[in-house]
Amino acid sequence: MRMGRMARRMAALCLALLLLLPVGFVCAEEGTQPLLEVHQMALGIADGYLIRLGDVNILVDGGNANPMAPTDAVVNYLRAAGVNRLDAVIITHWHLDHCMCTLFGESDTVVYSPAERVPDSIFNGSVTVKIGPLVTGEHRQMHMGDVLIFGGMTITCIGPEKLKQGGGCNQDSLNFVMQYGSRRFLFTGDFAQSNCINQQYTELCAYVDVLKFPHHGIEPYEIGKKALRVVRPQYVLVPGVVNEHSIWNFADNIVVKFPKENVLSNADGHVVIQTDGGERFEVCVKVDPADFAPAE
Ligand SMILES: [Zn+2]
Repeated sequence: MRMGRMARRMAALCLALLLLLPVGFVCAEEGTQPLLEVHQMALGIADGYLIRLGDVNILVDGGNANPMAPTDAVVNYLRAAGVNRLDAVIITHWHLDHCMCTLFGESDTVVYSPAERVPDSIFNGSVTVKIGPLVTGEHRQMHMGDVLIFGGMTITCIGPEKLKQGGGCNQDSLNFVMQYGSRRFLFTGDFAQSNCINQQYTELCAYVDVLKFPHHGIEPYEIGKKALRVVRPQYVLVPGVVNEHSIWNFADNIVVKFPKENVLSNADGHVVIQTDGGERFEVCVKVDPADFAPAE
């Protein structure tokens, strides 16, 4: 009699465990998906994005707001975030507000850019900074149609189709879509392929989760209405302290709706988006990069 009750209890416990098991499996699978982190560094009027997936670290631009008074802001941010090496640096175009970071090279870092080769030096109107040859690292030209794969993440270059000034002007900015699971981020440098998101990439660019807005974000817009109607982002990341309201207003006027607070600029400090490529999608503002440093 006593054993019978025990057996029933065991049976009930086993049933409960069996019922829990599938749920446990689902949670475990979701939990194993590494989080993609996209950091928008607050650098003043300069671009800098850290992308981290597991132990892969990629820097998209990393510029200096004022080349006359260079700072180590990018490097300091990376160190604070616990980044010890960079797998890749993507320079959208060779302007100093995007590329000063290449002065801090590492031997095994691959630097991608729209140019055939790294420019020897860059003159920004008042100061000349020696850039090439790279101190360390290897340069590769990125072309429309190139696909880079890092773990479960792909980066597809969608433009420009042709260069105007060998990668040295805003219109030559690399445009690429970073995809992780069902989440997509469109990076534009200083120029979106305004009226001409190449037809073959329309689907890839439509309804992206995040659009990195060209940082000269107020008139004249460096992303055209036609392109914005295709892209229809959920969130807009824009470096520099531009008028968030004007971007929202611009989009709203052409009936591309997203909430005002989904436009994130330097007014929001350093911004980090984390996603598992699926349901999980979190936006953190005014972050301390040290809070994202991996545990030792
Ligand atoms: Zn710029």
